[in-house]
Amino acid sequence: MSDTPHPSYALATRAIHDPGCTDPHGSPHVPIYNTTTFAFAATAELLEVVEGRRTGSLYTRYGLNPTIQAVERLLAGLENAAAAWVFASGMAAASALFFAHGRQGIVCVGDAYGGTLELLSTQLPLLGIPTHFLSTAELPRLGGLLAGGGKLVFCESPTNPTLELIDIRALAEQSHAHGARLAVDNTFASPINQQPLSLGADFVLHSATKYLGGHSDLTAGALIGAAGLLAPVAPWRKNLGSLPAPETAALLARSLRTLEVRVSRQNATAQAIAEALQKHPRVVRVLYPGLADFPGHALARRQMRGFGGMLSIEIAGGESAARAVADRLRLFVLAPSLGGVESLVSQPALTSHRDLAPAERARRGISDALLRLSVGLEAPADLIADLEQALSVSA
Ligand code: PLP
Repeated sequence: MSDTPHPSYALATRAIHDPGCTDPHGSPHVPIYNTTTFAFAATAELLEVVEGRRTGSLYTRYGLNPTIQAVERLLAGLENAAAAWVFASGMAAASALFFAHGRQGIVCVGDAYGGTLELLSTQLPLLGIPTHFLSTAELPRLGGLLAGGGKLVFCESPTNPTLELIDIRALAEQSHAHGARLAVDNTFASPINQQPLSLGADFVLHSATKYLGGHSDLTAGALIGAAGLLAPVAPWRKNLGSLPAPETAALLARSLRTLEVRVSRQNATAQAIAEALQKHPRVVRVLYPGLADFPGHALARRQMRGFGGMLSIEIAGGESAARAVADRLRLFVLAPSLGGVESLVSQPALTSHRDLAPAERARRGISDALLRLSVGLEAPADLIADLEQALSVSA
């Protein structure tokens, strides 16, 4: 929750300064209020907060805790939004969004994180929530699926793991024309590289576990948008109990202070790696929005400010060759996450997308020989040398 803070300040500044900070001791950063409940001098004062006539602290699971509210103000500022809610994880944020706004149907456009796909394809239908999946090539069918109004359209951009670009402005217009709302998972881009709300989306979702947290040491999520649209999500968050602990909220606020420098450096290093690997004889394809010949490059230039720290490479020789390269990497840690200061490698066919049938993976362009790289903050030359030594051994 928040009011739009400092719209005139650059993102690097908004990530550091919380205009709503009223810490009585003058702490210049978000202090940890590690308490579950807050005391009032009189019942009349308590009722002002309970009835929403005054914002204040009340009970941590409701999100009414100064540490949680402070990080929410920072997140709203970073996405140029009126309001933000934090969650215990990215999946907690997605679930609450789908329960609050997706009960009449959800259409997922393009590829998405495996956990989101599982929730949409397997679990929500058990509750009677209709879900549909469209590739970008199938977008002409969107209008038909949205008939009747009131549905939710969901996408990632760039997508995981093929870095496909979705035209957020066009998708928002199409969704709104059919009385639907658009939610964009902005985890891969981060608000430094892309602001979906300014392109017409209604909700931005983050796995704050990734770039926002940035150090692979916290699990959290965020949902950001207009206060009126987030209001129906609040009871789901409250009653599913999917709040982060105040310590996690404070750690997230601490991490946001360096978001802009981290992401800028990750953008530059990923570009350098993509260009170096493009010339490598053992690399069949490099998927990176910053490459001039990447199919989504022109769109990325229009809707992103930076091309991000994620890239995927297809290794010559198939699944076992790719596995051997992943196993030989020394600086790229073999781990299924992204967005941290340390570089990571994963093989989506064996990890995040292993539950998809092989034919479905092929349909989505996820080759068994694909390696996904999350570029960290190590020296670019060291990372390129690490990739070259791992690629130098034949499978
Ligand atoms: N969205 C994307 C793009 C992800 O990559 C992930 C996790 O990897 C999630 C959402 C889910 O986030 P979390 O692990 O914080 O629940």
